[in-house]
Amino acid sequence: MSFKEVEQFLDKIAPLANLSSDQLKSLKRPNKILQKTLNINGKKYPAFRVQFNNARGPYKGGIRFHPHISLDEVKSLAFWMTLKTAIADIPFGGAKGGITLDSKQLSQKDLQQLSRQYIRAFYKDLGPTKDIPAPDVYTTPQIMAWMLDEYETLTQTSSPGMITGKPLELGGSLIRDIATALGGVFILEEAIEQLHISQKTVIIQGFGNAGMNIAHLLAQRGFKIIGVSDSHGAILNRNGVDIEKVIEIKQKTGSVVNYLTAERLTNEKLVTIGCAILIPAALGNIITKDNAKYINAQIILELANGPTTLEADEILHQQKVFVIPDVLANSGGVTVSYFEWVQNNQGFYWREEEVALRLKDKMQRAFNNIWEESKNKSYNFRTATYLYALKRIIAAEKLRGKIYL
Ligand code: NAD
Repeated sequence: MSFKEVEQFLDKIAPLANLSSDQLKSLKRPNKILQKTLNINGKKYPAFRVQFNNARGPYKGGIRFHPHISLDEVKSLAFWMTLKTAIADIPFGGAKGGITLDSKQLSQKDLQQLSRQYIRAFYKDLGPTKDIPAPDVYTTPQIMAWMLDEYETLTQTSSPGMITGKPLELGGSLIRDIATALGGVFILEEAIEQLHISQKTVIIQGFGNAGMNIAHLLAQRGFKIIGVSDSHGAILNRNGVDIEKVIEIKQKTGSVVNYLTAERLTNEKLVTIGCAILIPAALGNIITKDNAKYINAQIILELANGPTTLEADEILHQQKVFVIPDVLANSGGVTVSYFEWVQNNQGFYWREEEVALRLKDKMQRAFNNIWEESKNKSYNFRTATYLYALKRIIAAEKLRGKIYL
């Protein structure tokens, strides 16, 4: 979603949040934008870090490596991070970073050099009490390890809490790898209970970290996964697909479409198939004004960032589809990143069950607090979620004397 759309949505909900024009202006303005051009073998790569808001704590947000990432998109993602940390009630602000590159074209050696250059470019603005990056699309625990090493070399410190999503050997947290999916499951379970939904059919678009893990976790809990997809296409079997088999085939052949006990169809068609729960877990702008009217699900759980356009969101609301917005649905990832940072700061590491239990508590509280506040309101659940987050951010800004009444 472009930052212009983020601004339009804020304009729309400003009266509901009783925002003054000064407050609105301040909420739309990132605190700091860092930009640098990195260079490997004579080729130039634009690099960004947007530190959006730190009223509630140090900046927090991932670093994305993608051929189409732009400053505008990083700004939107940094804004959403500010909302996510407020919703999950963790003491962070919001930031995001990125390098415009196709990482598949780079050797491991060059990828390491570029990751180190990124830290050399911005390290004075990073740190465990300033701004804490993490992985995002096409960045991995290995890349976090190189970045940590570069930071510690430059600062001559041991600072494991300067970055999260690290390998376990360097201070990573247990279950960080499945945290986004597991957080999504905890939130979905609450929604199903509140909405009294008994059908358990699921369609998942995208089969990477978020999509594959939630497929596995939901199948374990007795949900019937009837369709899944990846960038090569989609498969559907209304009697349910054998998800462990699909995972095995995806890992062996590179795509879910090689699972043969199912019908083949396009990604566009898959999202319109009738089901109880639709989970977009791939890219942004998947549900638009053109296909929203054909969506035939009771709940949409947005594991991807920005899968629904604003126009589509309104149509879904009119059709009584309950949309759990990205800033809530996928906040399990940043929540376990916070647990990783806590463990790094105290130098004491938790068992797997402890991390999972704390995650469940945070997700249940976030969902139910917003549910309570959204009851009997005419606006949709996304609006209620934004209002909940904005209230917390504004309260912190006011206490700091940054926003005047
Ligand atoms: P990933 O790179 O591991 O997986 C992406 C998946 O999407 C792949 O299976 C790919 O084949 C598929 N895909 C790509 N283009 C597609 C298309 N046109 N149609 C259908 N599938 C397509 O990425 P991920 O980490 O799983 O992230 C997926 C989404 O979830 C992103 O929007 C990301 O921002 C969001 N998210 C992820 C996390 C996390 O912790 N992984 C946290 C928060 C949000």
